[in-house]
Amino acid sequence: MPKRTISRELLNILACPVCKKDLKLKKNELICTGCSNRYPIVDGIPYLLPPELMPEKYRRGKRARSRR
Ligand SMILES: [Zn+2]
Repeated sequence: MPKRTISRELLNILACPVCKKDLKLKKNELICTGCSNRYPIVDGIPYLLPPELMPEKYRRGKRARSRR
């Protein structure tokens, strides 16, 4: 299984959509150094969405609500 992650160059230009601070890469997520929001990287694509816009399946909420 190839590990897909993002390049350093890309990481350098990315910023937190909430507070515009730098992000640090941890395994397959980006973690904001400012507000500590976490953004998943899916197939090499970082999902830089504010938590309220994040698709439910990528949320790391305490209660994962499944519909139906
Ligand atoms: Zn932030």
